[in-house]
Amino acid sequence: MTHPLLDLAPLTAARFAAIERRVAALLDTGQDVVIMQGEALLPLEGCIRGGARRGSTALNVVTGPYGQTFGNWLRACGARVVDLEVPFHSAVTAGAVAEALAAAPEIDFVSLVHAEAATGNTNPVAEIGEAVRAHGALFMLDAVASVGAEPLLPDAWGVDLCVIGAQKAMGGPAGVSAVSVSARAWERMAANPDAPRGSYLSLLDWKERWIDSGRKALLHAPAQLEMLALEACLERIESEGPAAVMARHASAAAATRAGAVALGGGLSPYVHEARDAAPVATTLRAPEGVDARDLVAAALAADPALPLIAGGGALAKEMIRVNHYGVDATRGAVQSSLAALGGALAAQGREVDLEGALRAAGDAW
Ligand SMILES: *Cc1c(COP(=O)(O)O)cnc(C)c1O
Repeated sequence: MTHPLLDLAPLTAARFAAIERRVAALLDTGQDVVIMQGEALLPLEGCIRGGARRGSTALNVVTGPYGQTFGNWLRACGARVVDLEVPFHSAVTAGAVAEALAAAPEIDFVSLVHAEAATGNTNPVAEIGEAVRAHGALFMLDAVASVGAEPLLPDAWGVDLCVIGAQKAMGGPAGVSAVSVSARAWERMAANPDAPRGSYLSLLDWKERWIDSGRKALLHAPAQLEMLALEACLERIESEGPAAVMARHASAAAATRAGAVALGGGLSPYVHEARDAAPVATTLRAPEGVDARDLVAAALAADPALPLIAGGGALAKEMIRVNHYGVDATRGAVQSSLAALGGALAAQGREVDLEGALRAAGDAW
């Protein structure tokens, strides 16, 4: 008896290339798209190890935990790192980036996270891209949490390395990812003696053995299930329409934010300004004296399917994340999340206005 997940025909090079073209269309990019057979940290590390060389000076914008990871990789590559740290409850401005670049003309690499699901903020990449282009540095963007949730235009914004994963707003698999690579970025990597080659981290291997030879033969057996899931996820986005998918995420974020404010009980948006809040996920600050982990546990006890989680690491005590992305970017998921958080707060004796919260969420949607 054949098994739907196991007894699959081999995934052909042509089909693999077709999936790449669909990713390129989603990003509206004419750059080469390389699909990487692993979770998005694989291309992120590959971009840094290929693009930042020994003796490079890198500007690393830190608006959340992923920026911290990039700084560590950059230092491991032998780059000098200028960390531009921004409080996690806000976004970086293009002005701050331009100032940091002006203060260190030798900066030749900039890493930035577009939206951070872990902190709930989003950065103005179009304006930042202008500053980076004027300076001439190579520009790497982690767009894992923004793709599908908000506009993402690597070519128009001057992004040289744009990394995406399907597991957030795209509602797809986590085990496969992609990066668009500009001609400039290929040149930089080719000229970097330390760029990974003959390695799972190597983007250049894909350039030389896949792209330059006409996408005829794959480097190794493709991660077939993940590729089929990525194809299905792209199909689903295309049939709903990317604009509609993004609108759902924007509405979910606006509704969650407005609902949490109206709910009261001491809950408040973690990201201070609405314009800095990411459409992919909304972070909330737990009331004074309440541990976010307890609140989330109580809310999930009422409904384990809700997209609620406490913040990671040092943020665990104070932050509640409402991960209203992918299939959870719906009115229902937002309303149920607000209701469960309201119930958990009420059980602690806090005064909440659940009706008002649901009304505010409905109006904001
Ligand atoms: C989710 C996410 C990733 C992927 O990391 P996971 O730990 O696999 O979830 C990378 N970058 C950003 C900004 C993300 O939000």
